[in-house]
Amino acid sequence: MENQEKLIAKCKNMVEKIYDKYGISPNEAKLLQKLIEADVSRPIVSFEVGDYVRVVDGPFRNFTGFVAEVNNELGKLKALVKIFVQPTPVELEFWKVERIIGKNMEGETTKSPLILMGAIVGDIVGSRFEFNNCFNTDFELFTPECRFTDDTVCTIAVADAILRNVPFVPTLQQWGMKGYLVGYGAMFASWLCSENPQPYNSYGNGAAMRVSPCGWFNEDRETVLAVARRSAECTHSHPEGIKGALAVADCILYARQGAGKTKIARLITKKYAYNLNKTCDSIRYDWQSDGRRLAQFDFDGDVDMDKIAFETDETCQKTVPQAIVAFLESKDFEDAIRLAISIGGDSDTIGAITGSIAEAYYGGVPDAIAQQALTYLPPEMKAVLTAFNERFVLPTRSNS
Ligand SMILES: [Mg+2]
Repeated sequence: MENQEKLIAKCKNMVEKIYDKYGISPNEAKLLQKLIEADVSRPIVSFEVGDYVRVVDGPFRNFTGFVAEVNNELGKLKALVKIFVQPTPVELEFWKVERIIGKNMEGETTKSPLILMGAIVGDIVGSRFEFNNCFNTDFELFTPECRFTDDTVCTIAVADAILRNVPFVPTLQQWGMKGYLVGYGAMFASWLCSENPQPYNSYGNGAAMRVSPCGWFNEDRETVLAVARRSAECTHSHPEGIKGALAVADCILYARQGAGKTKIARLITKKYAYNLNKTCDSIRYDWQSDGRRLAQFDFDGDVDMDKIAFETDETCQKTVPQAIVAFLESKDFEDAIRLAISIGGDSDTIGAITGSIAEAYYGGVPDAIAQQALTYLPPEMKAVLTAFNERFVLPTRSNS
């Protein structure tokens, strides 16, 4: 509002100058002023690629879709509108669409049409708790301290490689070297800079947190698992590192194909020998009681209880089953994310893994949550998300 008032004041000043210089009549000056005021007072509407929109005028009225292209100069966008089953590109002026955030016309919670947001939301929400575990579910999902981390960067890289059908190694390197202010594990950081990058036998959780695009690009389990393996073994070639990635991709595919939680738990336990019998309460208790390693001392040598830090365990064999347990106990997507963060440990990565499975099971991320997460992402990441969804958008289940 304040900006618009300033703009109007500036325009008035310009009109006076034009009047002085060109000698237009007072009526002409007034008319000019009105025209300018009307223009700057119009609400400033802009859209971004990936926005979920509803058409409000014309033959496609009430159709919904997501924005694939924006032309700010012409005030036009191209939306992929679902007509029957197929997403169809439709060119629309800005004024003919409205952005949908959170609710549909019946007042129901809408799901984001952008898959892969599950991992990204978990990463962003968990980012502020990675070294500062909160051990409860009552926290704000998004704050100014939140940011995307390596889990998002690598998820986008895997999506990009699948999308363009190019090898994972150079694509992970390209995305990893873009200069985002995110931290990488020491081994992955040196792999990123290597001219001849080789797998480093890691059983860290780095392959499991980036694998979700593999669970979405195809319906065939063998194909999904083969690509998940390739996405993992270029860095995390230790059997546990690969196993974690396969288990997460498998969970996503089972969930997408309609398996219930009991079935998912049984199949994953059998195939991957993970113990999924723990509860979030017991995992949380373990982290709180056993995890205290890095107590900070104040000047008197006393332990400062406010500054207790918790050592995180970033191994795949610990992170992945915990993340799956958080999903199994959840009642909806948001609850899954809250539980994942609440158990402690490597919060952004556990959030990313739980989020990626919960997204598949609950039929998507609530749009209001996805929209907030999207504000943290640079345009080039949103472009990959949109392109991936455009190409691989497949029917999702509805569990909530
Ligand atoms: Mg991270």
